[in-house]
Amino acid sequence: MAGETITRDGRIELRQRNEKWQNPPLFIDMLDCINCDACLRHCPPHFGAIFNHGADVVIIPELCSGCDKCLPVCPVDCIHPITDGAADEHAPNDWWALPLSDHDPY
Ligand code: SF4
Ligand code: SF4
Repeated sequence: MAGETITRDGRIELRQRNEKWQNPPLFIDMLDCINCDACLRHCPPHFGAIFNHGADVVIIPELCSGCDKCLPVCPVDCIHPITDGAADEHAPNDWWALPLSDHDPY
């Protein structure tokens, strides 16, 4: 419906960001990440964008508002905005199983 705020469930279903989000989504540089899960615990549940994916910790860009709440808690400073092709702006297909599974931490 026009003007209606899409919920997280809606974003998961449509695989789309909220058009009103001004900040770019973030991504995790997996080469530096030490898999401590601190970011995952600090992502607000109504965004719920960070997941354990096998041995990796990943951010689904379409669920990430760019609120930056995860940034200060990362001990190795490996979370960055997706700008100028720094990373893919769309989650790979298999990541979309994460928020729909028992592994959804939110
Ligand atoms: S920027 Fe906000 S929404 Fe995006 S992953 Fe970090 S805490 Fe979650
Ligand atoms: S807080 Fe940083 S090091 Fe820890 S899991 Fe998140 S991205 Fe990786």
